[in-house]
This record gives sequence, structure tokens and C-alpha cells, in this order.
Amino acid sequence: MKETLLRAGELQFKYARRYFEEFTAERPALREILPTVETPTLLLDLEGVKNRLIQIRYHLPEVRVYYAVKANDHPQVLSALHQLGSGFEVASSGELQKLLSLKVPPERIISSNPVKPPEFIDYAYGVGVNRFAVDSFSEVDKIARIAPRARVYVRIAVPNEGSEWPLSRKFGVDVGTALRILEHAKEKGLVPVGVTFHVGSQCNNLRNWFIAIRDSAELWEKARLRGMRLLILNMGGGIPVRYINEVLRIEDIAYYVRGLLRKYFPTPPYELQMEPGRGIVGDQGVLVTQVIGKAQRGGENWLYVDTGVFNGLAEALGGIRYPVYLEKEGELKEWILGGVSCDSMDVIARGVYLPEPEVGDRLYLLSAGAYTTVYASEFNGFPRPRILCVSGRL
Ligand SMILES: *Cc1c(COP(=O)(O)O)cnc(C)c1O
Repeated sequence: MKETLLRAGELQFKYARRYFEEFTAERPALREILPTVETPTLLLDLEGVKNRLIQIRYHLPEVRVYYAVKANDHPQVLSALHQLGSGFEVASSGELQKLLSLKVPPERIISSNPVKPPEFIDYAYGVGVNRFAVDSFSEVDKIARIAPRARVYVRIAVPNEGSEWPLSRKFGVDVGTALRILEHAKEKGLVPVGVTFHVGSQCNNLRNWFIAIRDSAELWEKARLRGMRLLILNMGGGIPVRYINEVLRIEDIAYYVRGLLRKYFPTPPYELQMEPGRGIVGDQGVLVTQVIGKAQRGGENWLYVDTGVFNGLAEALGGIRYPVYLEKEGELKEWILGGVSCDSMDVIARGVYLPEPEVGDRLYLLSAGAYTTVYASEFNGFPRPRILCVSGRL
């Protein structure tokens, strides 16, 4: 038992090491920064972020990308994507303001959160954002009141099985209800323009895409029979990045999704959209942390670092496991990674295999580019990680 665990631990550490070595080999500039940067810092490779967008566009040439700002809203990330002409998906006035201050044209901005604060709708519509998701009658009524000629697309519920960060329970309706919501929107003077879904964040299950596109096509046809010509199929986010395991590659998802589109949408929608967040920034960031303490408690080895679930690693609470790397040789031991705060919930991971670290050593948390700094608070007085954007290729 102990040996199998240790074997699994070895594989885990080797995987993290290989990931780290590949990552830094491709980004030689990082080699100098990593050991010297203040901690905690999220190092983000802006070239890498741009390359992710380019890659998605290459494999899905008919799809327009609207980057989900909530994954990482750092101005340099937004600006890098804006330079490439990316679209953006926002949920709040704060996110929208950031884009407008970078001179992103409102036509390239959509809002797919199905339940929006009235003030946000008012502000967005006022500056020229004109496309909003809905998934309830009351949202339609609200939008019709505040943004009387807006275009709306309806969110259907699709399976989020195998997605590490499922969203389907909170949002989305069945096809029948979606149809009635679109009709209701039309009666209220809004323009029903399309369908959206989200297969779940970090989706590693192609079947979710299958059901989602099939059901969207069903709704599309039903709407047509009721005299509504839909234009937009928005396929949401969900593109996964590797953490401690390999995941579906963008090209695999693209190949499969394009096949489904050919089958279920013989006449392609006027506009195909995707809203990747994690898939653009997730594996382009390394969180550099420092060991601040070690302890043995009840036979368990605890290791404490200078950040935690309240200061950037909130997704650890939902099951996201970051590859953890320490640049050291030596026998591996099993550790529990504790966060910096006094809260007992502040545990980043269990079952982390590392060579014996010392206080002051740097721990690298890989694939920390998405849903980290945006979630961070200053709980207990500990700072959010700073973000340092690098263009890693010298
Ligand atoms: C969060 C979110 C996304 C981005 O999801 P990822 O899994 O990070 O790609 C896209 N669309 C909507 C509506 C979202 O809420």
C-alpha cells in the first residue's frame, strides 16, 4: 500500500518536474525571474496567452472568440487579447469598464451571465453592448424594461459531467422552456438571436459537447418553425488546461465540435461563438510561493506557504489540483499543503509528494493563470499575489 502510494507520488512529482522544465525551456526569460521574484507572485506569459487565442482560432476558424474576462481580468491580459482583435464576455460593470478603458469597441463585447444586475444592463446598453444571455422570463422582462431593443440569446442546460467545475445546476433551461423564453422575448420587443450553453469549466468529456450541440440544433429548428430566425450559436467556455493530468487538446475538441456542427447545423449559424476563459490563460501562469513553515501533526507532514485558498487558490476548495514543483533532489515525502491564513479551511492540497523542503524554499504552482488572482481577497491581512506579465521568449 505504502509502496504504491510512493510510486504514484513519484509519478506526480516527475510530472510536475517535466511540466516545469518544458515550461521554462520554452520561456528562457522565466529562468532568471523565478528564483528572485518576490512571493507570492503570479508570473503570466503574455505571448503564451496570445498563442492560445491564435491556436483556438486556427483550429476553429469559423468561431469568434469572446474571452471570458472573469478568468483573469489583468489589464495586460485584456490588452494583449485586444491587440489580436479578440471579443470579450463580461458580467459586471467593473469588467466592462476595464475593456472600455482599453478602447475595446462595444460590438466586440457580449454578456452571457443569464442573471444580471439592472444597473449593469443599463450601463452596458448605454455604451453600446447589445447582446445579453437570458434563461428566465423575469430576466427577459428586466432587459425589455431597461434595454428595450436588445438582442437576447437563451441559455440551455446541458450535462456538465466530467467537468471539474460544473455550472449546470445554477443556470440554463430545457429546450421547451428555452423556446417559450425566446417567444416571450419577441413579444416584449426584444430580438431573439440565438442559443448558448456551457459544458462546464475544465470540461474533459466530449459527450457534453455532443448533447449541447444536438439540443441547440433542436431548439434552433423549433424556433424556426415558430418564425424566429436565430443567428448566433454561442458554445460558451469549458476548454480545459492540464493540471496534474493531461486533458483533451484544443485540436481534439475542435475536430469533434466541427464534426457535430456539420451534422447538426447543415446550414451554419450566421455567427458561431466561444467564450473560453481557462483555456486561454490557465496554463500560462506560474504562481511562485515560498515555504513559511513545516510541522508534523498526528503522523502527517504539513507544509505552509505564503498564499492560500483565500488569497488566490480558491479553486483548490472545489477540487482543482495544481502541479506543485520544488527544484530539489531527494527522497519524496507526502505533504499536506497549508495556506497562509489561520482558517482551518485554508488547505491547498493533500497528498502532495515533494523532496524535503526548507523554510524559504520556493514552491511553484503550475497552471495557475485562471481563476486565481481574480478570486483573491486580503483575508487575514495577507496580500493578493501580485501579477507580473512577462514575454518569456527571449
Ligand atoms: C465562466 C464562463 C465562461 C468561461 O468558462 P471557462 O470554463 O473558463 O472557459 C464562459 N462563459 C460564461 C457564461 C461563463 O460564465
